[in-house]
Amino acid sequence: MTDMNMTDRELHEECGVFGVWGVPDAASLTYYGLHALQHRGQEGCGIVAVNEDGILKRVKGEGLVTEVFNEAKISTLKGSMSIGHVRYSTTGGGGIENVQPFLFHHNTGDFALAHNGNLVNSAQLRKYLEDRGSLFQSSSDSEILAHLIKKEAVDRKKPRIFAIVEALNMIEGAFAFLIMTKHRIYACRDKYGLRPLSIGKLGDGYVLSSETCAFDTIGAEFLRDIEPGEIVTIDRHGIRSRRYSEYQRHAMCAMEYIYFARPDSDIEGCNVHSFRKETGRLLFEESPVDADIVVGVPDSSLSAAMGYSEASGLPYEMGLIKNKYIGRTFIQPSQAMREKGVRMKLSAVKTIVKDKRVVLIDDSVVRGTTSRRIVRMLKEAGAKEVHVRIASPQIKAPCFYGVDISTYDELLCAHKTLDEVREYLAADSIAFLSDKALFAAGNRCELCLACFSGHYPTELYQSLEEANRDGKF
Ligand code: SF4
Repeated sequence: MTDMNMTDRELHEECGVFGVWGVPDAASLTYYGLHALQHRGQEGCGIVAVNEDGILKRVKGEGLVTEVFNEAKISTLKGSMSIGHVRYSTTGGGGIENVQPFLFHHNTGDFALAHNGNLVNSAQLRKYLEDRGSLFQSSSDSEILAHLIKKEAVDRKKPRIFAIVEALNMIEGAFAFLIMTKHRIYACRDKYGLRPLSIGKLGDGYVLSSETCAFDTIGAEFLRDIEPGEIVTIDRHGIRSRRYSEYQRHAMCAMEYIYFARPDSDIEGCNVHSFRKETGRLLFEESPVDADIVVGVPDSSLSAAMGYSEASGLPYEMGLIKNKYIGRTFIQPSQAMREKGVRMKLSAVKTIVKDKRVVLIDDSVVRGTTSRRIVRMLKEAGAKEVHVRIASPQIKAPCFYGVDISTYDELLCAHKTLDEVREYLAADSIAFLSDKALFAAGNRCELCLACFSGHYPTELYQSLEEANRDGKF
């Protein structure tokens, strides 16, 4: 799979969240933080800030962070507390009403909410809440938590933190939530540990981010990851921690390491570039091949290609070049233009690959259409042989946790034998990394590998057949 162009990625992460507590001009810092998380979602973004009068104000819109915000808009968001969100839509679809953070006005106090992930029992909870009078502003399942919190706070007259604990115990799935009231920010992670969320320190204040790369962008110091099942409260009393669930796993989404996260991020103590490089090294150990050069698909496969090259002693070459300047609004070449040879996003470098036996390293195969195009491109540029090595196992099952690996029908490896996959890609040989090597690469004993193995860490509430039939996943 390649990320040749944001709009051409075969896999999409649902979102990224970023928060600032106790730092002047928090909204500007959130803008830079969201910009560093842009790879996690390009469809929409928003920031909510709390001003000196305790009023929560929001700016949001569809598009990239640089398209939605400018200095004038940021200057309307005053104060030292803010949370932000970048969105790619899966559950709930697109549309401005689904762009977060959500902002709720209520007699128990206003609050804002930003969510990365996907709830697996959202249909049941939405019905439960609507039957009891809730009116939803959006089709996003992220709003469900807000309604549950409000309901708990009103029905049982509980302080907000207890209402949050109760609400979190009702939802199931993958989540990293930031909830902001006029005094504090709550940050919570699902008890399975599927989505990342970290805390950093900046001056006298704190920052929260889906990925640590955003801390480096704003000069913050990484403090620690939020634990699965933990709620961290940040306010004028400092940081406090509590658990909403005694159940705890560390089933981090393997795709965060393989593809989504930026290489300069550290997730649960493991640097993403180092993880990918190690998968490349292990891929060579498991599946060596006689060849002349190693070429990685830019950008997410380059670290694994370096690892394969180092382990094999084969030179690592820039056999594929990505055009970095294609924006979302670029007019994509039509079929007729493509037939004329117009390839705007990725090019094979003829002088490098001509007459060479190429090991092509890619991070994963979803539908396989992009990989097939790349193999053809290398062959047309004169490569003598193309040996495909994939730095992850075969994707065979849908994801229910906020990644748009949709129906079985779309997944190349779900229906084909290894040799049929090789044939479809027109490769001279093909091999995938083992599950075991993924654990070894991260030095971990637990990861979510559900889209490879079909073994889900949570209950699903909907059968796979139903999900597939609905086309929801
Ligand atoms: S199913 Fe795959 S993409 Fe989804 S959370 Fe698990 S590892 Fe990540």
